[in-house]
Amino acid sequence: SAAITWNKVDQYVTEKLIPHDTVLEQVLEANHNASLPPYDVSPTQGKFLNLLVQMKGAKRILEIGTLGGYSTIWMARALPADGHIVTLELDPRHAQVALANLKLAKVADKVELRVGDALEQLAQMEAEGVEPFDFIFIDADKPNNPHYLKWALQFSHAGTVILGDNVIREGEIINGRTEDPRVKGVQSFYELLAEESRITATAIQTVGSKGYDGFVIGIVY
Ligand code: SAM
Repeated sequence: SAAITWNKVDQYVTEKLIPHDTVLEQVLEANHNASLPPYDVSPTQGKFLNLLVQMKGAKRILEIGTLGGYSTIWMARALPADGHIVTLELDPRHAQVALANLKLAKVADKVELRVGDALEQLAQMEAEGVEPFDFIFIDADKPNNPHYLKWALQFSHAGTVILGDNVIREGEIINGRTEDPRVKGVQSFYELLAEESRITATAIQTVGSKGYDGFVIGIVY
């Protein structure tokens, strides 16, 4: 089937372009052993995040949705020595695994992992007078995507790149009668993007080892 081909092609690309990496393999193994859900980005997507961070020359990154820190590590590795990531995670068990993984990958000194509901953490960060971010990766609970976009814009400067994952959902996104709160959240996310004059964006459909999905990428004015 198509999905088998997508998976094989992802493996081919990974073998060709993404050097064997024992740390990242150990991280995925640790996530699996701790029974974390397998919602991390794929290796090709992780490398893509890494490249985007380099292309942007980002120094300050905000990630909403840490899980085991797999995507965090990919992005942290693209940062300069004085770069920094704030990553937000609701589940203390996920955060605990992530912290161990960040240490294993020797990037823990660049990462501030904040545990708790992202909306609460974001409000707290504003109260703390947080500096704007150069790159923002939205990858948590999809029903809250519109709220996360508002906060992302709040914490942006001209030129900030905002990326939102899982915005195609096997094409369910065009189902106007969906009852799935994740799909509805993503549909509202598109509506907000369309009406928000502070950002211009597009969405790219993707296939691969994680199935048929896609991401939104935009730049803030
Ligand atoms: N970015 C990760 C990666 O690629 O390795 C994957 C993140 S996973 C898709 C989504 C994460 O968001 C889960 O770990 C989940 O516990 C977390 N999450 C769900 N609701 C949240 C909330 N309200 N606040 C913060 N994190 C939340």
